Amino acid sequence: MSDISSPVSNLAAIDAAHHLHPFNDMKKLNENGVRVMQRAEGVHIWDSTGKKYLDAFAGLWCVNVGYGRTSIAKAAFEQMQELPYYNTFFGTTTPPATLLAQKVTSKAGPHMNHVFFTNSGSEATDTWFRLARVYWKALGHSTKTQIIARKNGYHGSTVAGASLGGMKYMHEQGNLPIEGIHHINQPYWFGDGGDLSPAAFGLKIAQELESKILELGADNVAAFVAEPIQGAGGVIVPPETYWPEIVRICKQHNILLVSDEVICGFGRLGSWFGYQHFGFEPDMAPIAKGLSSGYLPIGGVLVSDRVAEVLINEVGDFNHGYTYSGHPVCSAAALENIRIIEEEGLVERVRDDIGPYMAQALGTLKDHDRVGEVVSVGLIGAVQLTTDKASRRRFAKPDDAGAAVRNQCVTNGVIVRATGDRMLFSPPLIISRSEVDQAVETLGKALDWLKDHYHA
Ligand SMILES: *Cc1c(COP(=O)(O)O)cnc(C)c1O
Repeated sequence: MSDISSPVSNLAAIDAAHHLHPFNDMKKLNENGVRVMQRAEGVHIWDSTGKKYLDAFAGLWCVNVGYGRTSIAKAAFEQMQELPYYNTFFGTTTPPATLLAQKVTSKAGPHMNHVFFTNSGSEATDTWFRLARVYWKALGHSTKTQIIARKNGYHGSTVAGASLGGMKYMHEQGNLPIEGIHHINQPYWFGDGGDLSPAAFGLKIAQELESKILELGADNVAAFVAEPIQGAGGVIVPPETYWPEIVRICKQHNILLVSDEVICGFGRLGSWFGYQHFGFEPDMAPIAKGLSSGYLPIGGVLVSDRVAEVLINEVGDFNHGYTYSGHPVCSAAALENIRIIEEEGLVERVRDDIGPYMAQALGTLKDHDRVGEVVSVGLIGAVQLTTDKASRRRFAKPDDAGAAVRNQCVTNGVIVRATGDRMLFSPPLIISRSEVDQAVETLGKALDWLKDHYHA
């Protein structure tokens, strides 16, 4: 057995020889050499060379309670000794799975009282996708099958997830999207708003949903899915007019509204779920990431009473599930994670204290010549790059500009992410004010570097 706790000097070579990575150009990765992450504590992570980073991206939007929580490790260890696995298929459950269902739904609002567990956000997407069609069929509306999603949305990497997502570069691989999925524009004012005010633009883009429903016929449409704030698409915060209009349209045309909470859930926006921040009640809501703060893989779909009652009373068997749905060890870890969020008041902290602080700190970058807009809600934020503020002009190669800024930040010890020409922040919910300052200052210096060295 190899000892994973000691640095292995040739790990990069072994990795290049055997390990295929998600969302990577493998040839380039192997040439550059992979970065080996070794250990972490709080908001900090160390690579195998001993270099320390401030992780302003919480792993991959997920380590909400920060690294190094021994109580989560202990909860998992104890559950593993007590009962490492049992299924939830054949009339059985385990204490952690049932208690997690109770705990999660207790945060979700009075209309949302059930959850179906999965191992990931992608599987949650596949689950609600099937459930939406099952729901309408059970009600005798078997033509209501089409699903409307958004360009540049992200809902995972399975066939349904990548199809519902609006990433062209994902559709190009594997003949996607599958049949029955349609994409409307995203509420990205900086990029697409032209001369419209954000408010007018938000309405206009929301109304694309109505046009699409009318084009397809409401009798053929099952659901609309969106992230409250688009994450992987670049932290796109919709104008205030957007969500109320989406809600009106879904109600009026009798379309299920699905809120993808995989990033926005569990405190990220200063609310338990993103729909609570924006003030609406979805019919279903996929969750993952912050549910366990990434300590173990677990996801699920929150199911409203409207849908659950039909599933329970009309459908009979729902022929869907994962071997590890409600896995007891992952559920125990998630329960402890939520207990920490409650005990430390992290949702309130994000809403009232550190979220507004990050908004103000990021806001100091607004005057920078290379910054087009700054958005920040709770502990998710984005800084848009531009070559000309007034006209909102973009770099000729937006991906390259964003990657250059990100690489500067990482070299200087702060991990941020770039989506195209937007620099994304999504730190652990425990980040301190001085750590926020450090992250923002490092980005500020990278923007100075961009101005001086990068003219493409
Ligand atoms: C990450 C993500 C997913 C997919 O989750 P996985 O656990 O990677 O399968 C789905 N939706 C959103 C909004 C996400 O950010």
